[in-house]
This record gives sequence, structure tokens and C-alpha cells, in this order.
Amino acid sequence: MQSMVKNRISLEREKKTILVMLRMYCHDHHASTGDQLCQDCRQLHEYALVRIDKCPFGADKGPCSACEIHCYKPEMRRRVRDVMRYAGPRMLRKHPVLAINHLLKKWKRKPTS
Ligand SMILES: [Zn+2]
Repeated sequence: MQSMVKNRISLEREKKTILVMLRMYCHDHHASTGDQLCQDCRQLHEYALVRIDKCPFGADKGPCSACEIHCYKPEMRRRVRDVMRYAGPRMLRKHPVLAINHLLKKWKRKPTS
């Protein structure tokens, strides 16, 4: 039970991180404001949420950027990567807690072999 709760929290955090990053990217590239996303970014957001919900790793899920499966379609993957590259460094300043958690997960998943 404990791990299921933790799992849900971690998935929620990943979803929140994606939304925050998308907003930063969209505000600066597509002139959206506040909680708004342009149509393209909204579509990308919905796509990302579905991928997270269907992720086969469940509780052990790392950030999608560090995943070996790459379940995103190539086009979507490219767009998400652009968003991450732009918003990643800015996350550290604006949302350090979310950003640090994201980085920690990445380190944890480093292969040990
Ligand atoms: Zn946009």
C-alpha cells in the first residue's frame, strides 16, 4: 500500500513538472499567458499525461528523458525534448524543489554496471 501511495505522488509530481515546463516554454515561444497553453502545447501535454499513465515501470518510473523504452512517438519526443531543454535550466531558478526531484530521479536510474 505504502509504495502505491508513493507511486501516485511521484506520478503526480512528474505530471506537474511537465505542465510547469510546458507553460514556461509556451509563454516564451507562443505568447500564451497565465495558465494558458497554445493548442499545440495543450496537445503535447495531453499526450505526455497519457504516456505517464500507461508507463509500464509504474512505481519505479524515472523521468521520461532518461527512460530506455522511449514510448513517445518520434515527433512528440522531439517536441518534448525541445521543451525540456528550454525549461530545464529555468526550473532550477523558478521551481527548485520540482527540478531537484527531477534530477535526483535521473541519478537514481543511472545504470550501475
Ligand atoms: Zn505553445
